[in-house]
Amino acid sequence: MTTRFENGIVATLGPTSRVIWNGSVVTEGETIVAVGDAAEMKMRFPNAEALDCSGKIVLPGFICTHHHFYSTMARGMAIPGEPAANFVEILERLWWKVDRALQEEDITLSAQIPLIECIRNGTTTVIDHHASPGASDGSLDLIEGAVRQAGIRASLCYEVSDRNVMGGGVAENERFIKKVGKGDGQIAAMMGLHASFTISDETLEKCVGIAQDAGVGCHVHVAEDLADREDSLQKYGMPTVHRLDKMGASGPKSLFIHCVHIDESEMDLIAATKTSVVHNPESNMNNAVGVTRLFDLLQRNILVGLGSDGMSSDMLSQMRCAYLLHRLANHDPRVAFLEAPKLLLENNAEICERQFGIRLGELAEGRPADLAIMDYQPPTALNEGNFLGHLIFGLVDATVDTTVCKGKILMQGKKILSMDEERTAARSRELAPQMWQRLAAL
Ligand SMILES: [Zn+2]
Repeated sequence: MTTRFENGIVATLGPTSRVIWNGSVVTEGETIVAVGDAAEMKMRFPNAEALDCSGKIVLPGFICTHHHFYSTMARGMAIPGEPAANFVEILERLWWKVDRALQEEDITLSAQIPLIECIRNGTTTVIDHHASPGASDGSLDLIEGAVRQAGIRASLCYEVSDRNVMGGGVAENERFIKKVGKGDGQIAAMMGLHASFTISDETLEKCVGIAQDAGVGCHVHVAEDLADREDSLQKYGMPTVHRLDKMGASGPKSLFIHCVHIDESEMDLIAATKTSVVHNPESNMNNAVGVTRLFDLLQRNILVGLGSDGMSSDMLSQMRCAYLLHRLANHDPRVAFLEAPKLLLENNAEICERQFGIRLGELAEGRPADLAIMDYQPPTALNEGNFLGHLIFGLVDATVDTTVCKGKILMQGKKILSMDEERTAARSRELAPQMWQRLAAL
């Protein structure tokens, strides 16, 4: 089926970034077949189904390179005991109980809800990091099912750690990697590792071996808090990145998440191994762990992407958070205007190319038909030269009207078509009290 998404402002992004007023994006099946002037596209594709996008801007679907679907049911929950005073306490009192309390249906719902929110926010590709030690076997299949139902793309992994049992989650992650194989462009797999401070050498060696045999990367939290660095220095006599690299976990397909507390030598090592870093500014602020040295990473040509770390599925808000954080942290109102959008729009696409083997993030002939179509009436001229100004100060607050992934319309007129939003949320509200009770007993 051929469709013309026409009469909107088309912002193609990609290397030949163009802004086309009264533009049209033509899709056929899962692929974009043409982008250009709406009248011209109507002549070239007269029999295509037409979807009017006037009053809207058409962008490539957004990408989140680090998410935690499983965190959904923590929303609104009272955390038992004293408030957590530091990062390790946040893990011990909150997240390491949330994941243990999850049962099978909770896992599915915990994925379905953020997937709906992804569609609402035009996020069409996610790299997720899952944990559910109380129900690990088959958990990635449940999430895969939810992703396929939602209709977006996701790279999935299970967060291996030794914190409950030695090698917890290795089998599930290995099984899923083998099942997914090279992937189908919609689902990909990685080797998930919690963090250096919760993984012994023995478990790490096993995981890296599985990842290398399968040709997939490792997805691991790195030096999110100073505690991870200190643990590595104390136990292994070297900082976190050096330990992970020595054990074979670095490389072009691997994702080192956060990298807040790393030194110059670790940055050099990340650059030398072409490992990607994913920055999660909102999460770092929420956990009060510190500020990633973003510009020092970028200066070394390290590929730095942008994630939400489970905080949100709205990637424009994460982009703006990065923009604001680095201006404040550097006491410099000249910085981050180019860099924050680059993480989201360019680098996340590059990271996904390494995971899925397809080039996202660009509206051009031959590219995947993933679109975020937003209500937007620019109050000033909008063109290639000032697009970022509109992105940071206008589009960040605009509403997504229509979301398309793999050529399929997942939301139109702000109505989710691929999932039942009301029923999913109602069922989650039904199960959450039991999940909270199990959690309180842990
Ligand atoms: Zn995370």
